[in-house]
Amino acid sequence: MQSLKNFIGGAFVASERRFEKRSPVTNAVIAEVHEAGAAGIDAAVQAARAALHGPWGAMPMARRLELLGRVAAEIDRRFEDFVAAETADTGMPAHFSRHVAIPRGAANFRIFADVVKNVATECFPMDTPDGAGALNYAIRRPVGVVGVICPWNAPFLLMTWKVAPALACGNAVIVKPSEETPATATLLAEVMREAGIPDGVYNVVHGFGPGSAGEFLTRHAGVDAITFTGETRTGEAIMKAAATGARPISLEMGGKNPAIVFADADLDTAIEATLRSVFANSGQVCLGTERVYVERPLFEAFTARLKAGAEALTLGDPLDPATTMGPLISQEHRAKVLSYYKKAMDEGATLVTGGGVPAMPPALAEGAWVQPTLWTGLPDDAAVVREEIFGPCCHIAPFDTEAEVLARANDTPYGLAASVYTRDLARAHRVAAGLQTGLVWINSWFLRDLRTPFGGAKQSGIGREGGVHSLEFYTELKNVCVKL
Ligand code: NAD
Repeated sequence: MQSLKNFIGGAFVASERRFEKRSPVTNAVIAEVHEAGAAGIDAAVQAARAALHGPWGAMPMARRLELLGRVAAEIDRRFEDFVAAETADTGMPAHFSRHVAIPRGAANFRIFADVVKNVATECFPMDTPDGAGALNYAIRRPVGVVGVICPWNAPFLLMTWKVAPALACGNAVIVKPSEETPATATLLAEVMREAGIPDGVYNVVHGFGPGSAGEFLTRHAGVDAITFTGETRTGEAIMKAAATGARPISLEMGGKNPAIVFADADLDTAIEATLRSVFANSGQVCLGTERVYVERPLFEAFTARLKAGAEALTLGDPLDPATTMGPLISQEHRAKVLSYYKKAMDEGATLVTGGGVPAMPPALAEGAWVQPTLWTGLPDDAAVVREEIFGPCCHIAPFDTEAEVLARANDTPYGLAASVYTRDLARAHRVAAGLQTGLVWINSWFLRDLRTPFGGAKQSGIGREGGVHSLEFYTELKNVCVKL
């Protein structure tokens, strides 16, 4: 069994307190994880600060970015280790970790090195009373020590989405991976060392939220900025912690994302994309669809096709290439998802398919499995239509007019993403403009150039990540005014 230690100041550090990481697939213990206490966080902050005042802070940008290229190359070299670690921790089908999660992680280091290399600065020449003039130009400085709090649903992709721009901008980071997915952040520590990243630039502290590494990290006055991806309620707690010292935060939080399917949509496209958006990673994708609105003439046909697609999913061992859906992350999360399956029926839903626990072969029987599930017939104020479930399920409802569906889609405290399926170009743009979300897909899902702004409106987030937008958080802009 693996023993995963904290990584502080370039060394793997043991803790007295340990916790168990269980497999989502079999529920067997697969790792013993060393939990960082307040002293561990303090040591990580000191190490990060020392790196900023030492070799990392003094390093020329070109050298820093070259080292990030080496990090990407080292991830490529250890690709199979990362795929194995990510698949074991999350239970996601190995083809997803192999083709999306891990390659995207390596790409993040290459992309943000490029972004930082190519970003220009603004310059305003100005008049002065003596006629000589002045030049104003803005330069970017790193913010300092960044606390990085990560979720479990696509851990390596989402962590590197923060760590890569933070390091490209010259910051030092302290990463707190989810207690459910400690492996790839630990593996990345080995990669950082091998790539020649100076000690203290990348630190990993393991543990939980309240009363553990998460809370200690966000409360530590030596952490200059905090970036978080996870549930909205946790984001609120992190905002409170960051208020002490008025420290900047970046929050990527929950969603209750709608898909809107107009009757003129290409049905094959709408079905293919909706199946992926509901069931990819067992529904544990922040951008996933949990509410589908279908224009009435297409409602029956769409529901029948989505049902057939859901029933064609193959649940099984994530390492089996035939598997198209893995388990949920944990027994606790399964209990939460199953409570919504029950609530849907209590609230009067019509069950289209699923709704329970599948029968699995004996070797997998203890895993966190649930059936892919679809409902119709619920009012818009039902719990499963309003609350984020984060499981392989959605509610399908008919609609009659564009104005009506836009109002229903927007009637939520969340505002992360939405998808619209139609062949009417003008309507597509009109509905996209009216949706109160940070992201809209037209006739697709999950397709995105990594240079574009990513983030949520309303209670789904604060700030934007991606391309130059990440620099807004990971750097401090300083204006220099030169009198000529
Ligand atoms: P979570 O909020 O339970 O945990 C996220 C992280 O926060 C974990 O590392 C956890 O240990 C830590 N944490 C918990 N309480 C804390 C506290 N009080 N102080 C400091 N740290 C604390 O989220 P999760 O269950 O790991 O992830 C699923 C959620 O993440 C879903 O709501 C999903 O929508 C959201 N998510 C959002 C995005 C996005 O980009 N908007 C991406 C992925 C996931």
